Amino acid sequence: MATCEVCGNEYDKAFEIVAAGQRHVFDCFECAVHRMAPVCEHCGCKVVGHGTEVDGRFFCCAHCARLSTGAPAADRVDTMV
Ligand SMILES: [Zn+2]
Ligand SMILES: [Zn+2]
Repeated sequence: MATCEVCGNEYDKAFEIVAAGQRHVFDCFECAVHRMAPVCEHCGCKVVGHGTEVDGRFFCCAHCARLSTGAPAADRVDTMV
């Protein structure tokens, strides 16, 4: 049994995520996202997908990054083609 560090639920199928050398325990992905996911600087939503990073600032998409930084950010899916 492990206890979720976000909601306190004790769950036999809890899982661990190690990030930046720190170990986190969650009972579900929603709790993991709540604790771990960066927040878009422009619109405030949780960045759950790839997101866009400009000068260490996180955005949910290239649109938000462009509006906030003026940088010619592009979604990575666009540049993969
Ligand atoms: Zn939880
Ligand atoms: Zn956004």
